[in-house]
Amino acid sequence: MNCLHLYDSQTRENRKVVPARGDTLRFYCCGPTVYGPAHIGNFRTFVMQDVFRRVVESTGIKTKHVRNLTDVDDKTIRQSQEAGVSLTDFTAGWTEKFHKDSEALNLLSPHVEPSAVEHIPEQIEMIATLIEKGHAYRADDGSVYFKVDSFDDYGKLSRLKEREITTSETEREDSDEYERESAADFVLWKARKEEDGPNYWESPWGQGRPGWHLECSAMCKKHLGESFDVHSGGEDLLFPHHENEIAQSECCNGTSFVDHWFHISHLMVDGAKMSKSLGNLYTIDDLAEKGFTPEEVRYVLFSGSYGQQLNFTLDSLKAAGKALERLRDFKEKLGALPDGPASSIDDFGPFKPVIEALLNDLNTSDALGKLFSLVKQFLKEIPNLDTDSLNEARRGFACCLYALGLRLDIPKSTKSAVPDDIADMAKERWEAKQNKDWGRSDELRDAILAQGWQVKDTKEGYTVSPL
Ligand code: AMP
Ligand code: ZN
Repeated sequence: MNCLHLYDSQTRENRKVVPARGDTLRFYCCGPTVYGPAHIGNFRTFVMQDVFRRVVESTGIKTKHVRNLTDVDDKTIRQSQEAGVSLTDFTAGWTEKFHKDSEALNLLSPHVEPSAVEHIPEQIEMIATLIEKGHAYRADDGSVYFKVDSFDDYGKLSRLKEREITTSETEREDSDEYERESAADFVLWKARKEEDGPNYWESPWGQGRPGWHLECSAMCKKHLGESFDVHSGGEDLLFPHHENEIAQSECCNGTSFVDHWFHISHLMVDGAKMSKSLGNLYTIDDLAEKGFTPEEVRYVLFSGSYGQQLNFTLDSLKAAGKALERLRDFKEKLGALPDGPASSIDDFGPFKPVIEALLNDLNTSDALGKLFSLVKQFLKEIPNLDTDSLNEARRGFACCLYALGLRLDIPKSTKSAVPDDIADMAKERWEAKQNKDWGRSDELRDAILAQGWQVKDTKEGYTVSPL
């Protein structure tokens, strides 16, 4: 198997993930609602999407990854008003925090990160087409609704015909009283209300703002086209959000919307979904205060199968810390690793079983099992390996680290005490030493000394301590 096979929530089968057109896989993820810090449940979804992209790219396929920002909805508006700041400033602050946490978790930045507020004209245009084609109607208050009855395929993703739509399932979007014709109809344009304050736009149907589902349809169309390869989100988005995206996009564009649906199961705490409303959440900062690194968090978030809910515990973070220590120790024994991702699975060399496990429906727990048994085997063999074999092992291990998004570059013992710039210099010195660049390594040792710190080489690597 040399390409990814992934479970498709629509066909309910494992299917190949390959670009339908050209050589680039077009991939959309529903992004964060920026009204507070993302919690590690949200990040389970973003980390798995990141592993997905890294694995696809490791097989030599390029990706175009689009992930939106939801920067206007009931929650962002309400919270910005409570904070007494404009919606733009409020969401900009939380977007910055999201970027910082994402970087700490080593998430690759999407190629495009569009925001709902920046795409109002595109959303208005889609609504106009839907009205023209008889799939939407304007209610007396100026809101516009999608007419669910007008789309025969409604429910094809969630197999809705096997159950009934209840209003509680559509609550997230329509928490206010809107005048829709049927409980199933969902809002495309929300007429302006007094409590929205200055957060409204002009439209042919009066002042208001777009509905949440519509933003993703409009941004997909603009940045990936009317039809594209893979669409992803947490399992809670399957219905109604993704079902509604399909309805809007297929009725507006007259063509099939998405080839492959990738849903990630929830992160749970004591049997309940981790969520803001339940107040049972942890953020990256909460866990840093308890002494856990973002890399330990990342490890926990990808270590269980994405298709099953994962119960979060602090003990799992401690175990992740130990696992990462073992990998870091192995990395140090291997010596300097080459950079960058694999360009084909052959680059994994002796570590090919790891990528093969990942290509089988992103089976991360199997991949980690394979990784650790290879590490164990190589630890015994390193002293007897010739240079070519050692280089193949280095390349293969580096490809595994890239695919899983692990950096392993902060020796745990020095992680909090040493300032970032000193830690960076110490790391660079270590790398210079591995490359036998003695001039550079001496220069860096002196620069570190000049700032009141010293580096010492040990059997396992190096330590950094104050003078
Ligand atoms: P939101 O910021 O609420 O729009 O959600 C951002 C992403 O996080 C969406 O893909 C959600 O489906 C996902 N998500 C929300 N809660 C969880 C959770 N407990 N576990 C995994 N993913 C989640
Ligand atoms: Zn979406």
